[in-house]
Amino acid sequence: MIALNSPIKPNLKKLQKYLEQINYNGWYTNFGPLHDELTARLEAYLGVKNLLLVNNGTTALQVAGAALGTKSLLTTPFSFVATTCAFKWQQKEVEFCDIDRNSYNLCPIAVNDAYIKGCKADTVVATHVYGNPCDIDYFDKLSSARNINIIYDAAHAFGIKVNNESVLNYGDASILSFHATKVFHTIEGGAVVFKKRAHFDKAKALINFGIKQGKGVIDVGFNGKLNEYQAAVGLVNLDEMDNILDHRANLFNTYRHGLKDVVEMPCWHPQANVNGAYMPIRIQNKALLNKVIDTLSENHIQSRHYFSPSLEQVFVDGGNYGTLNSQEVAGGILCLPMHAHMTLNNVQKIIILMRKSLY
Ligand SMILES: *Cc1c(COP(=O)(O)O)cnc(C)c1O
Repeated sequence: MIALNSPIKPNLKKLQKYLEQINYNGWYTNFGPLHDELTARLEAYLGVKNLLLVNNGTTALQVAGAALGTKSLLTTPFSFVATTCAFKWQQKEVEFCDIDRNSYNLCPIAVNDAYIKGCKADTVVATHVYGNPCDIDYFDKLSSARNINIIYDAAHAFGIKVNNESVLNYGDASILSFHATKVFHTIEGGAVVFKKRAHFDKAKALINFGIKQGKGVIDVGFNGKLNEYQAAVGLVNLDEMDNILDHRANLFNTYRHGLKDVVEMPCWHPQANVNGAYMPIRIQNKALLNKVIDTLSENHIQSRHYFSPSLEQVFVDGGNYGTLNSQEVAGGILCLPMHAHMTLNNVQKIIILMRKSLY
């Protein structure tokens, strides 16, 4: 079987050493030594500052919005459900507008049009879908011209750079998910990268019941901390990331080269690297799409409609400035197997099967 995804397995010898250290420290959670070590190593590895570890990517979205004072947001319908439900759960007003048909990312022109039509959202939440950076320069301009905050859902964008600068350094905040299924993981976990230190400070209190060290309770907070066991897994997995990112990029480029003339693929940001977080393809013709899925399945190869349906169809009470591109893309989208344990031979086999079933 070739699985759709397969999490990194942490090196147990290294992990054991960290777990012994935790027992020696007698410190299991609440911003412990391994938590701080992972923070520093991630900041260095990713090339960012003001990185706050949290207990998952959903918390990261919620705490990013809370620190920025988000009350209402305009977001993409083409993303994992968490991008929307994280904020719905907090009773925020959520509105959708369309994606760019080529990149599958939230379209800045559609965002601008929504504001011209009277959208009042104070924050735009845009996902770098499959790790492919949004039009960050355009969103920068919109942010200053319209005085709105930008939060990037960068759950797929670990290790992605634009012109050699981390994509996480754009916007007012970017969030990462370190769920076991993601490119880098701490089993459950996540992080927010803030542009401003003041937002980082506020968020750090918010994830600790609103308690600021030395100042008592300064805000209505909750518990969003990453514990020492999770940090240990992160420290072990981080050692492997250079190899994993190289390998995944290699798999991704092999897929892309082998399939580019037979299926549609999202148009990648021209100044960005690839991290092979996912392998999305799109097939317009429903019968052909089903034939491909069946052929793969008969050969014990998993695939999944991801992301589908378009989220305005799930959250029907949300405001909507038009989502036709998103519906069209979601209608034919399919993710092929992509993970660190796959081989180039696996990819070649899938390419051959796909090409056969498409002709
Ligand atoms: C995985 C994911 C999340 C949620 O992260 P969790 O760590 O699972 O809470 C949010 N947004 C996107 C785009 C994701 O893929």
